[in-house]
Amino acid sequence: MEEKKIIIAIDGFSSTGKSTMAKALAKALNYAYVDTGAMYRAVTLYCLDNGLFDGETVDEPALQQHLDDIHITFRPNDAGRSDTYLNGVNVEQEIRSMRVSDKVSIIAAIAFVRHDMVRQQQEMGRDKGLVMDGRDIGTVVFPNAELKVFVTADPMVRAQRRYDELRGKGDTTTTFEEVLENVTERDRIDTTRAEGPLRQADDALVLDNSNLTIPEQNAYLLGAAHATINAQRKNGD
Ligand code: C5P
Repeated sequence: MEEKKIIIAIDGFSSTGKSTMAKALAKALNYAYVDTGAMYRAVTLYCLDNGLFDGETVDEPALQQHLDDIHITFRPNDAGRSDTYLNGVNVEQEIRSMRVSDKVSIIAAIAFVRHDMVRQQQEMGRDKGLVMDGRDIGTVVFPNAELKVFVTADPMVRAQRRYDELRGKGDTTTTFEEVLENVTERDRIDTTRAEGPLRQADDALVLDNSNLTIPEQNAYLLGAAHATINAQRKNGD
């Protein structure tokens, strides 16, 4: 009998390594993977490059008019990983820069942006067999996801991980304090916004990975996924 495919929603705070674990899980299950943070980051990059920001303020009416001109796609690269494209241009590196990280939560708090992203994300999950990570996946995008995981970790540990990642990519100017401030500020905006705030779904498994290695967290997630898939099969859902 062919195995029933499920949707796995991974939500949580910034820089908890959600995408690393979501990618590994998708690969192990042979599922598709979607990084929804990359979508909000790509919209932010578009706004920065098209003069829609004035300091911390974005020209919302202009953005609303431009929304149909923003096309975000994912394509596999030579290493087999998925890269983010904005209007046909590979922006995978650029969307991870501090320039974008500093502004992304402002864009992600705008209701009409969220509605458009959520609609596209729901479309991507139509055939199931998907691991999606973000902030509102288990609460708004797929409230009926068969498996929901909520990831958290100590802010200092998260900032250190993001700092090491930036250093690894050749950023030698951003300080640890700046990264820590960015991580905590994004958490603040993400949890307090009116539209699709970051919150743990009632039926989510909570994973605090402050003291877990990557292999440990991957093993935990894969175990949870297999248990859910097996339970579905038994229930004949
Ligand atoms: O996951 P990542 O840190 O790359 O996400 C960047 C930002 O995009 C988050 O800080 C959050 O403001 C926003 N986001 C969101 N909803 C999602 C995914 C990301 O609001 N589903």
